[in-house]
Amino acid sequence: MPERSETDSRKLLRRLRDTLATPAKGQERLDRITHLIADSMGTEVCSIYLFRDPETLELCATEGLKPESVHQTRMRLGEGLVGRVARSATPINTGDAPAEKGFRYMPETGEEIFSSFLGVPIQRLGERLGVLVVQSKAARQFSEDEVYGLEVVAMVLAEMAELGAFISEADGFSAAHQNPVMFRGATGQEGAAEGRVWLHEPRVVVTNPVGDDPEAESARLHVAVDELRQSVDRMLSDSITSDKDQLDVLEAYKMFANSRGWLKRMEEDIARGLSAEAAVEKEQSIARARLEQVPDPYLRERLHDLDDLSNRLLRILTGQGKDTGAEMPENPVLVARNIGPAELLEYGRKLKGVVMEEGSVGSHAAVVARALAIPLVIHAARITSEALNGNAILVDGDQGVVHLRPEETVAKAFRDKIAMQAEAQSRYASLRELPATGQCGTTITLMMNAGLMADLPSLAGSGADGVGLFRTELQFLVRSRVPRRAELASIYAQVLNAAQGKKVIFRTLDIGSDKVLPYMKPQDEPNPAMGWRAIRVGLDKRGVLRMQLQALIRAAEGRPLSVMFPFIAAQDEFTAARQAALDEMDRERALGHVVPEKLEIGAMLETPSMAFAPRAFFEQADFISIGGNDLKQFFFAADRENERVRRRYDTLDVSFLGLLEQIIARCREANTPLSFCGEDAGRPIEALTFAALGLRTLSMRPASVGPVKHLIRRTNLANLKAVIDEARDSGAQSVRSVVTHFLARQ
Ligand code: PEP
Ligand code: MG
Repeated sequence: MPERSETDSRKLLRRLRDTLATPAKGQERLDRITHLIADSMGTEVCSIYLFRDPETLELCATEGLKPESVHQTRMRLGEGLVGRVARSATPINTGDAPAEKGFRYMPETGEEIFSSFLGVPIQRLGERLGVLVVQSKAARQFSEDEVYGLEVVAMVLAEMAELGAFISEADGFSAAHQNPVMFRGATGQEGAAEGRVWLHEPRVVVTNPVGDDPEAESARLHVAVDELRQSVDRMLSDSITSDKDQLDVLEAYKMFANSRGWLKRMEEDIARGLSAEAAVEKEQSIARARLEQVPDPYLRERLHDLDDLSNRLLRILTGQGKDTGAEMPENPVLVARNIGPAELLEYGRKLKGVVMEEGSVGSHAAVVARALAIPLVIHAARITSEALNGNAILVDGDQGVVHLRPEETVAKAFRDKIAMQAEAQSRYASLRELPATGQCGTTITLMMNAGLMADLPSLAGSGADGVGLFRTELQFLVRSRVPRRAELASIYAQVLNAAQGKKVIFRTLDIGSDKVLPYMKPQDEPNPAMGWRAIRVGLDKRGVLRMQLQALIRAAEGRPLSVMFPFIAAQDEFTAARQAALDEMDRERALGHVVPEKLEIGAMLETPSMAFAPRAFFEQADFISIGGNDLKQFFFAADRENERVRRRYDTLDVSFLGLLEQIIARCREANTPLSFCGEDAGRPIEALTFAALGLRTLSMRPASVGPVKHLIRRTNLANLKAVIDEARDSGAQSVRSVVTHFLARQ
């Protein structure tokens, strides 16, 4: 790169900074900037086009085009050369603009006499703010140096736009981070919340895009990159994981952190006059723009890695950690790219809602959000780039939709919805002490699902008859090491204390499949959902199972205890697991500990095989609980984690109902209590259908107890059963519509 252009570029940036620093109205500032750039680049024209709204660009300032076209000339995204630069987020450089594809002549600007055109995007971290254009009469292509120099200028403008130096003052503009944006994601946990954004990892704010001393800036960059490399090396050496994907990510980090190309580009940016952090951001912006256009998932992941690494580097350079000193707003809604279960738990119930860019319905964070009954939307693409701390936000967990900085009309409709839900909740609260008895006189026992101490207050509040499923793995998932027996015993004792004599069914550890413990060596299995999980692990590795059983027995301190084994797929597995529990009882007794006055040992029925198990299985089990989430995925061969297929098959499909009836009949025959504890038990239509088919105990998330009880109390289950039978006789594939109609009519 010639020395002269570097110096020129630095000079221009410094003049730009000074211009921006002098107090002036937004328009005046823009005018000075265009004048400055044209002058410095030796072009007749320099224009700034900014987004008026996400689809429209407006000419906001120009040196060289007709002044009366300012704020008059507009184009759609993708329209004309300017629109193309904005859409593709890449420069267009041509010596013969009219011959260029997509050229659109704007007569009011008088631009027809300018033959050459160079346009570069004004963008910040993948967010498009506008287009910076220079034009000249001479038919010449701009040199690579000039393109590069203009990109650097655009970067500084983007930073200034971010800081509100001019855009927010320009009339009628939906400036960056001020306009309403809607995100369509997926439901992680139902419910609605209104609050203010709290970013899990706040955006780093670059306050000094222009560097005065390139050498000093370059030295700062080097020190920061060294620190980054060391931290990546540490991450690699500390990593106890043998998971190939995780190691791949770390290796990719290492590769980028040591990439000469990356460092070299940033050094060039600094030589042009950017500060070290602005240089990092410039490269990050380019990577983000690319990210949006790359269809290859592998490459996208790598660009994501680079993005992560750039963020780390920015934090090192600016010293801005996660704690920016900002105060958490009232009614905080957490916005994160992703978050671990332990971190989410730390925020706890003070959060009104959670929105993530990534995640999955079965992710640990989703499990925790569910336990805390916080509305959660996942897959809200780009929300961490759009949202600012303190922005108003509405989370619609039912629809998987998020409204950021909503219009008042949207907010009002949303509030009505929340008010209606609150009203319904208070109606349900009045049913708290009443039984779930239908019009036909049949009573259904309604239990709740839990897994954390944080769930327990819901037991009294929801009106549940007990805890029908306590998922013990959550205590393991939110820790960084295996909990000790005494720790577990104390937690289980607290759970029993909080239940105040109501039944709690503890399910032994259900790990494997989607629930991978951070400290357990992950198994490289082709299909983990059908792999080494739950009781299969428990029976093969007896240590943890025994430790857990001992902790449960001790926690009971003589009180009755109910233990349930997950994922029993064959009778002998249950026999072995049950024997393990009985052996621990004997051992504890022999050691002189008080043992539970009564021990009930149950099985979760989660594979179709058990509907056809030998009668002895049903007789041996003290109770059985249908794990509908797993049972359904195996019955329909549809992965419960896979968004493409998980909603494809209806729980109320007559074939699945037939399977449930078979299980109900087998349990009746053996006189074995039966419950249903999958998510469907908490969905009113499903719950009522199950009850009509003969299920007498349902265990669900606490928030569902009220609505389900309300509906059962209004319903004659015998009549509902008749309607279901009639639909089946007439050949329906699903009974959903008849059940929905029946319930709506009563
Ligand atoms: C189920 O499979 O229905 C169940 C309750 O267990 P989990 O969701 O924890 O797998
Ligand atoms: Mg299950």
